[in-house]
Amino acid sequence: MPSPTPYTRFQTTLAAVLEKLKPTSEERSLLMEPQHIHQARLPLTRDDGSATEFSAYRVQFNNARGPYKGGIRYHPAADLEEVKALAALMALKTAVVNIPFGGGKGGIQMDPRKLSARELQEVSRAYVRAFQPHLGTDIDVPAPDVNTTADIMAWMRDEYEKLTHSFSPSVITGKPLSYGGSLGRSAATARGGFFILQELIDREALDPQELKVAIQGFGNAGGTMAHLLHNAGFTIVSISDSQGGIYSAEGIDPVRVEKYKRKTGAVAGEYCEGSVCDVQKMKMDGMQHVTNEALLELPCDILIPAALDNVITAENADRIQARTILELANGPTTPEADAILEKKSIRVIPDILANAGGVTVSYFEWVQGRSGEQWTAERVDNELKRIMLEGYKMVRRTAYREKMSYRHAAFAVALRRILAAMKARGWVAS
Ligand code: NAD
Repeated sequence: MPSPTPYTRFQTTLAAVLEKLKPTSEERSLLMEPQHIHQARLPLTRDDGSATEFSAYRVQFNNARGPYKGGIRYHPAADLEEVKALAALMALKTAVVNIPFGGGKGGIQMDPRKLSARELQEVSRAYVRAFQPHLGTDIDVPAPDVNTTADIMAWMRDEYEKLTHSFSPSVITGKPLSYGGSLGRSAATARGGFFILQELIDREALDPQELKVAIQGFGNAGGTMAHLLHNAGFTIVSISDSQGGIYSAEGIDPVRVEKYKRKTGAVAGEYCEGSVCDVQKMKMDGMQHVTNEALLELPCDILIPAALDNVITAENADRIQARTILELANGPTTPEADAILEKKSIRVIPDILANAGGVTVSYFEWVQGRSGEQWTAERVDNELKRIMLEGYKMVRRTAYREKMSYRHAAFAVALRRILAAMKARGWVAS
């Protein structure tokens, strides 16, 4: 049997939920595959004069509820299967929080850290030139994802406007504030997940001071979440980045880690010099080095994967000790691991709900671009909280009433909304 890909893993969960929703075969086939797959080879002349090419993708999964929406990832693993899975998750994510978008995703299969600033800008503009006919404010609206930044979004908007001779502030989101961005966008993914955690612990009358949290990933999603939780009184017992992690039962101050990381470039360097840990020094401070694998299995109450996909698997799910998992990363848990976690009564707040704050504030940015307004940070925050909590409560109710995991409930809520739009539009019989 071929080994599962990110997309076949998505299809496994989709098929399990469709089993319960009982769509017609026509509806089912429309939901199982993307509507459009666009591919290109992007040429680049390197600074040394040599020529190279990168594979690039834009997958448009479903637009029944509105324009395709989803980020562009720059990563060596961003192949077609990964981009398809991420596009599908976006279609469900926008539906679960009920914002008027469909789902899409893009990627360039490359390591951007190996490019100069000029090369990075050139390849980003080449992406827009390759896919421009398929993009547009009312067609398909990209955004940042792993390794893509506000600056890259600005170059892409500029390239699109040049090609189309238009003023199109809402053709892309996640832009810098000085060029059509929204206040609150960079913290939105973590803030959205934080609102859900707050609601969950308030409802169960838990005390943040008594809750220990481990976070994998210290970038936009994980790093911002570490600060929010620390400020709210939670004890962050472990954090990590691609180089490794640190653990302290007494708690870690993310501000200190941030400062050190800026100096050395690695979380494992908080109490170490560079990437080689000074174990002696760490022990004195009650701090231990942990690998990214060990972090997932630490004693804690809340585990937050906020880096990569496919990290909680059938192999390690049984050893997870957290009672709640909040998925800020996309696709961190395999379907096999989900089954094990459910048996252990570990509650998983799934990616399509937990990390939907990013696309929600992207929606606010799109609205602001269209109306020419600039919302205050307070308005962004209030609206984000309202939308995230409505989504969360709907998923919680569905899970309870239909005796489903939160992931299956989130899929069910989203798929019903997409199906209703497909019926209303006459794509399938009503
Ligand atoms: P980022 O590039 O800002 O940060 C990624 C973090 O993961 C970094 O700290 C990096 O060092 C770490 N990392 C990389 N490889 C690792 C490894 N092998 N083990 C452990 N850590 C590793 O990216 P981000 O925007 O924070 O995105 C992280 C995840 O959150 C992704 O799955 C992304 O799709 C998802 N997400 C992000 C947003 C957003 O708005 N930023 C929105 C929705 C979902």
